[in-house]
Amino acid sequence: MAGAGQKDRALRERAAAVIPGGMFGHQATGMLPDDYPQFFSRAKGAHLWDADGNRLLDFMCAYGPNLMGYGHETIDAAYIAQMQVGDTLTGPTEKIVELAEALTAMVTHADWAIFCKNGTDATTMALVTARAHTRRKTVIRARGAYHGAAPWCVPRPAGTIDTDRAHQILCDYNDIASLEAAVAEAGDDLAAIFAAPFRHDAFIDQAAPDPAYARRCRELCDQTGALLVVDEVRAGLRLTTDCSWSLIGVQPDLSSWGKCLANGHPLSVLLGNDKSRKAASAIYVTGSFWYQAAPMAAALETLKIARETPYLAHLDALGTRLREGLEARASAAGFGLRCTGPVQMPLFLFDDDPDLRKGFCWSSQMLARGVYVHPWHNMFLCTAMTEADIDMALDAAEQSFAVLKREGPTLEPVAKMAFLVASGQR
Ligand SMILES: *Cc1c(COP(=O)(O)O)cnc(C)c1O
Repeated sequence: MAGAGQKDRALRERAAAVIPGGMFGHQATGMLPDDYPQFFSRAKGAHLWDADGNRLLDFMCAYGPNLMGYGHETIDAAYIAQMQVGDTLTGPTEKIVELAEALTAMVTHADWAIFCKNGTDATTMALVTARAHTRRKTVIRARGAYHGAAPWCVPRPAGTIDTDRAHQILCDYNDIASLEAAVAEAGDDLAAIFAAPFRHDAFIDQAAPDPAYARRCRELCDQTGALLVVDEVRAGLRLTTDCSWSLIGVQPDLSSWGKCLANGHPLSVLLGNDKSRKAASAIYVTGSFWYQAAPMAAALETLKIARETPYLAHLDALGTRLREGLEARASAAGFGLRCTGPVQMPLFLFDDDPDLRKGFCWSSQMLARGVYVHPWHNMFLCTAMTEADIDMALDAAEQSFAVLKREGPTLEPVAKMAFLVASGQR
């Protein structure tokens, strides 16, 4: 039986004394049902074990970094081999050149690469590159879209000041009129338009990019001289090995990547085209660990697997099996369950569930059956999952719907969820 056990409770108590709020970021206490474990001890393939030893089929994949399976044999072997000969050194190794070559060969719009550690490094570097390129200030981005946790884009503004977010105009994703209005408002000061590959905001249904919106972003950048940035940090390598918007025929100037690029090892990258190369050479960006060679070796191996195996078809087949199975079981139990987004990165939200009460209860029931799902954030499939894993999750789902139907939503989400949901829908 999964669920926060004794060891987890004890660790939470100790954490409360030495970690502000008990935990920071997306695992902050109170953002998930109370019986969700906060601490984990190990992982392999598609599974992770919580601190109390419960084995869970993990549909969060570390919030994205796990693509090819936890503890992947050849990826981790490449990491370890490089670590043993040299990792963080006075300068980079040849791996940085090899990896930049591999990425620029793989991603159509890309002619150059700058490596960093976190997705936020890459999106912030995109902002700086665009401002250096245009010598203008204003950027447009979609309301509710996540681009990281730096002061210019962090979703919760405590500790930031208005000027951190100055010179930004928000538009609505897929809404061409609001995009055009934002561009008009920017006047002759537009530096960049930021876009997510598809709408993957928390708390609301995901949405595919409207090709007309993507094309309009491209046209408006071309007309004004601004740069188009696609933030691939979450979706990169999951839908295609090229930039996601190449699926709808639109090439950005800059794209930010991270999360699964090195299958769990710390690495992110900003890719750009020749147009933006001069600006990218002029900005000063660095970090103590940005030349780290072992994650680059892991990324080279990850990309090799991506090139040489039909992993995308496998993810698509698993995701389709999950979505179709889940929709059938939800409607058989009489629930409206919206499964949105690409099948490889699904989000499940119940109809008539304004404060996520049903979602919390159903997720809790899933957890008790050994399946880790998320009640309000998009999830991820990994290639280590099998059809049998999906079928096991579907059995758990059927039982969880039955409990929810019989008992109603017994779990109350914390009060702040209603606020967060409302702010996500704003
Ligand atoms: C996670 C994420 C980021 C930030 O990446 P970090 O590695 O957490 O800094 C930026 N953009 C998107 C779309 C993300 O999902």
